[in-house]
Amino acid sequence: MEFCSKSTLDAFSDAYSSCHLCPRNCGCDRSLKAGVCGMTSELRISRVGLHMWEEPCISGSSGSGTIFFTGCNLGCIFCQNHEISRRLSSGERGSSSPFALPGRPYTVSEFADAMLSLQEQGANNINFVTGTHFVPHIIEGVRLARERGLTIPTLFNCGGYESVETMKMLEGTIDIYLPDMKFFSSDISNKYAHAADYFERAKEAIAEMVRQCPTQEFDGRGLIQKGVIVRHLMLPGLLFFLTASIFWIIFVKRTGTALRSA
Ligand code: SF4
Repeated sequence: MEFCSKSTLDAFSDAYSSCHLCPRNCGCDRSLKAGVCGMTSELRISRVGLHMWEEPCISGSSGSGTIFFTGCNLGCIFCQNHEISRRLSSGERGSSSPFALPGRPYTVSEFADAMLSLQEQGANNINFVTGTHFVPHIIEGVRLARERGLTIPTLFNCGGYESVETMKMLEGTIDIYLPDMKFFSSDISNKYAHAADYFERAKEAIAEMVRQCPTQEFDGRGLIQKGVIVRHLMLPGLLFFLTASIFWIIFVKRTGTALRSA
């Protein structure tokens, strides 16, 4: 793990030696085995490229610099990214092995260079997609990329099933949060993502994101520079729950109650 300071290396080993980076709280030593997210402590990335189809204030006309991490701590059964986030099944994308993982390992230095390459291609921001299980690497990677000349905002694009402590680690590293709010009912989140506590954890995590970024800031082109954007999931037949979660966010926005209690 090159280019890391001693303290960062210590923080990496602490975070991965008994992993509680997300609400799954596996507690496993990821230098030895993977947790529910499917990833060991080796940084692995599935795809790096410009993404033209995020929200207009994120992609703009020149694109968002997306970095898709391999693995996921949520694993929804309807995932649209499963080919690049989870194990490839036999025959997918040319894989002949049922155990093939998408992407490849990256050193922290390669990771920082990938961000700089996206900036050179005109990216409006660096968009970390499903990076919860690699937060220590993201912190060190951004630090190194900033040292090497990264100037565009960073964005944490996640499923919403996050721990407050891990979100606090990102303060000062991330400029924009883009969490999902997928489920309101614990029965539904348990059925589709094996995460009965999804709404409680997402609620606390989003409150922490808003604490860090209480206002939205845009540049002269209308591109977001700082703030929080919550994405809602519309599941067929479950619009009531979508409405309930929207009402919760409006309530938080107007009263600040959930923010203060989190
Ligand atoms: S990040 Fe992975 S190993 Fe760590 S607690 Fe979450 S699912 Fe488990």
